[in-house]
Amino acid sequence: MSAPAINPEPAPLQGAQTVATDRSDRQVKIGSFADPPAPTECPTSFLEPIMTVLERASVCTLDCPDTCSLTVEVEGDRIVKVRGSDALPYTGGIICNKVGRYSTEFAHGANRLHWPLRRTGPRGSGRFERVGWDEALDEIHRRVTEVIERFGPQAVIPLNYSGPHGMLSMDSMSLRFFHRLGASQLYRRALCGGVRSEAWAGTYGPVPGIGPETAESAALNVVWGNNATVANLHLVRNIRAAMRKGGRLAVVDPLRTKIAQQADLHLALQPGTDVLLAFALAVELERLGAHNDAFIAEHVSGYEEFMTLARAWPPEKTSTECGVALADIRLLAGWMAAADPLVLAPGNGLERGRNGGSGIRAAIALPALLGKLGRHNGIVLGAGNAFPKTPAQLQRPDLIPPGTRTINILDVGRHLERDDLDPPLRAVFIYNHNPVVVHPDQNRIKAGLSREEIFYVGIEIAMTESMQYCDIVLPAASHFECDDLYASYGHHWLQRAEAAIPPVGEALPNTEIFRRLAARFSYIDACFRASDRELMDDAVDAADPRLHGRRGSEIPAGEAVRMTAPDGRPLALFDNVMPATPSGRIELASDALAERWGEVARLPGFRPRGGKFPLALISPSSASRISSTLLGRGGRPSDAPPLLMHPDNARARGLGDTRRVRVWNDRGSVILSLQVTDAVPPGVVASEKGAWLATSPTGQTISALVSADDRADLAQGACFNDTGVEVGPA
Ligand code: SF4
Repeated sequence: MSAPAINPEPAPLQGAQTVATDRSDRQVKIGSFADPPAPTECPTSFLEPIMTVLERASVCTLDCPDTCSLTVEVEGDRIVKVRGSDALPYTGGIICNKVGRYSTEFAHGANRLHWPLRRTGPRGSGRFERVGWDEALDEIHRRVTEVIERFGPQAVIPLNYSGPHGMLSMDSMSLRFFHRLGASQLYRRALCGGVRSEAWAGTYGPVPGIGPETAESAALNVVWGNNATVANLHLVRNIRAAMRKGGRLAVVDPLRTKIAQQADLHLALQPGTDVLLAFALAVELERLGAHNDAFIAEHVSGYEEFMTLARAWPPEKTSTECGVALADIRLLAGWMAAADPLVLAPGNGLERGRNGGSGIRAAIALPALLGKLGRHNGIVLGAGNAFPKTPAQLQRPDLIPPGTRTINILDVGRHLERDDLDPPLRAVFIYNHNPVVVHPDQNRIKAGLSREEIFYVGIEIAMTESMQYCDIVLPAASHFECDDLYASYGHHWLQRAEAAIPPVGEALPNTEIFRRLAARFSYIDACFRASDRELMDDAVDAADPRLHGRRGSEIPAGEAVRMTAPDGRPLALFDNVMPATPSGRIELASDALAERWGEVARLPGFRPRGGKFPLALISPSSASRISSTLLGRGGRPSDAPPLLMHPDNARARGLGDTRRVRVWNDRGSVILSLQVTDAVPPGVVASEKGAWLATSPTGQTISALVSADDRADLAQGACFNDTGVEVGPA
């Protein structure tokens, strides 16, 4: 990683504005400060400090599809402001409030980790002592070596997720290290995103759909299970532009989100019934004669099987099951039939339930039935496939010893708590992840993390509640302190950023931490000594025409490179990209999915919600955090998000608007304030995800109520939006 070259000689001040030099030697006016005194003035005035604020180009790495380009204002080694930049045309200088407001705290706040720590108190107590890097790495080496000698290398496991989305900081040198070590493999996608990816790839193959910019010219945008205003901000900007031109917006979501409030039509369906609604729309579109027979004959397989299932759910029947008015189903179908262009933007919301894979598959089948796929029509999904990534080079899976087991991330809590594996898990590296807050079955994972027989290493930017359980905590550099390469899972632009400030305290980039760990374990091959520039080169295929002959390290910082077709046009499925399924067609029935996830996954299906708890809890994104990251709100008792409940359900339980309530099921109990509102339909309660345990009088948050054993119908995915609960007075 190259340290930022802060210009020690500020450029001459002009007028009332500081002029500084950014990393590309571009002079930029960035603030209003007093002019320096002229040389003829009293020399003592030179003793007054002159504030020099520099601008650095950066990229937001948080777990968000927008991957905004940023301008970071830096004073000395400190970030003083983060705002949007124009480097990425799609985000165009606009960023969300949470990053604008809380990034300085994120980098320099009281919770920031500055140096390695060793635990001195009980697990979870937060009592640590400062140690040096050598001491910390030596202890990790000693303890992990003991585990390997006694139990074998598979007793070690990384427990990581997607805190940062930089290609280097997320999964590069870290995985090389664990692969070489022979640690148990972790299947991470079950926690989030895996269901959606599988549904998409099973239907269309690993290809990009259309870019989100396309929403701007849609006659109808359908936003499905996507709390876009807080989790996909720039899509909303494009949708609003379309609406100003007369386009319509329909939103499918149990919750009346802000984007739903702005919609022409909101279908507030019951969680888990998306597949039925999509079936009903398919049936209604057929009745309207809107199915595009020629397109289907040429490009779609499994049509008759799909429609046979769908016809069992005509709108009249589906209306009751989904809790959506029959007229609204018919209205949406009519709009979809008429709209040209039609853009569908599914989010992560509908994947997080027992029927998540089926819901997405049935929804994304609708544009195929209509033949509305191409340059302007289509589905905003699959963006991660737009980039020429080379994970085999970057992560080196060839280093994995044959026969190494793979463990679903959702099962880790159970394995830690119950020791039900052979060999058992005895050394766990937690990084890019806050499992105590975000994993389902929170009490189970806490019990696992409390076990003294297991050695826990944490690598983090801040002292999270997960880090408080660790034996050794290593301070990680934030994305403002690292060089990295950024693909996106929401758009088709590749970006590179250099560090805006040096690492805070003794923090190190993830790549350097694992480089040092590899050296401690005497892994001396060149791949463990690769620099960050070399890792960037390993991350993407320089020979791919999308990179125009540039290696990853040669992507200009402060610019964004659009992934285009050879003709220079934006990538768009059925314009310059075709399905990449085994048949080369759109597969509404998928043998590939059946092979991976069982015969039941061959076609979309519906499983009703069972269980003894009457209310369905959903957990939407927060406008203040990215999951549990940033902590703009979410770390103090007063920050607990409310529980939203429909007036009918509140009345039936004798609950008033201002009371604190207890939300519970067999797994846990959470105290929340109650907000009675018709923003949720009857039978559904909602509370934002990601609040820290410190917000809760019971030391539990809503993750404690979610089962880690209930799985979606694809990818063994977590069912965060499909949890049965009851609610009563606190
Ligand atoms: S969290 Fe999303 S919207 Fe906010 S700055 Fe980061 S990428 Fe942009």
